[in-house]
Amino acid sequence: MAAADTATTLCDQFGLDAAWRAAQLALVDLAAADHPRVELLHERVLGGDSAVSIIDDFYVHLLKNGQAARLLASFDMDRLKKLQVGHLRTLGRDFDSAAYFEARLRVGIAHARVGVPLGLYLAAFGYLQVLVLYEIEAAGLAGDERQALVELVVKLNTLDVTLAAEVYHRTRVQDLQRSVRQLEHERRQLRDQLQQDALTGVSSRVGLLEEIGRALDAALRTGQPLCLIMADLDHFKQVNDTHGHAVGDAVLREVAGRIKAALREFDLVGRYGGEEFVILLENTSLHTARQVAERVRRRIADQPVKAGGHLIDITLSQGLALASPGDDPDSLLARADQAMYRAKQAGRNCIAEA
Ligand code: GH3
Ligand code: MG
Ligand code: MG
Repeated sequence: MAAADTATTLCDQFGLDAAWRAAQLALVDLAAADHPRVELLHERVLGGDSAVSIIDDFYVHLLKNGQAARLLASFDMDRLKKLQVGHLRTLGRDFDSAAYFEARLRVGIAHARVGVPLGLYLAAFGYLQVLVLYEIEAAGLAGDERQALVELVVKLNTLDVTLAAEVYHRTRVQDLQRSVRQLEHERRQLRDQLQQDALTGVSSRVGLLEEIGRALDAALRTGQPLCLIMADLDHFKQVNDTHGHAVGDAVLREVAGRIKAALREFDLVGRYGGEEFVILLENTSLHTARQVAERVRRRIADQPVKAGGHLIDITLSQGLALASPGDDPDSLLARADQAMYRAKQAGRNCIAEA
């Protein structure tokens, strides 16, 4: 029972249901009337030691082939022969049961996974069939019985061959699907990495430029105002020079967090350069953008940043630009940048407009 249970799972795994199995049997023309012939085959042809001697002959022949010999070199031949004898002794028995398909499929999968070339595998089936046919010839059967068993063996062998080909194909497809899923996962991870700034967790420059392009298109389409702020930390070089680069990094992380906290959920902040952040405000008037910039300015300036055991006063200079028709990301960024430089010239910790 347990064997039958595991047996059905392999068919399930490959989506080979009862209807598929019935269709496969119809394809090779195996029907209920063949069951007594299977019994006859085992009684008169494959009984006694003949399965063992067929398999002995089979391997003698197979090992003459260099490719097969190389593949088989690392296997325990006695065990392989026993398996193969078992395979032959069950040939056709309950051929219309799920368990029969299961057992044949399992052997196919084992060969596919080990990397036996399909051509070699199918050729081996062919040779095994020839050996069984010889045995039928030698069994001294009446003409019509002999003919019936020859047909039966060809059908059963064809079923084995079709199952082997199917399972090779499906194993390969499964492997490919697995690789595709893995690659897709890696692609998403890489894309996320590319779009996110590693130090601060806000959008990266790449992500920002994509978003600015998209927001400009949307603004042009909808006629909604779009504002962009370039925010640059004041005298940041001094922070690094005084406290070291690690403290500088911690300050950048804290500043990014504070900017984010000052924005609405649908606003976007990204790190444009070393100590420069860009804030993208969609559907936002110049009037509201000024308020946002002022909120950001205060969030940074009103409370010193704690980093590396120091309390460090930080301020930002901001340049504000409103998108106009004909803008592309570069032109909009350039205007915000020029405005930001004017804020620097005006004494820093303030906001200028393009
Ligand atoms: P200004 O007010 O004119 O902008 O002066 P500033 O010192 O901020 O400007 P400057 O362009 O002279 O220097 C920017 C500094 O930002 C220099 C660089 O060491 C620092 N910086 C850039 N990226 C990083 C970073 O990722 N980590 C740290 N710790 N510092 C950075
Ligand atoms: Mg700068
Ligand atoms: Mg600066």
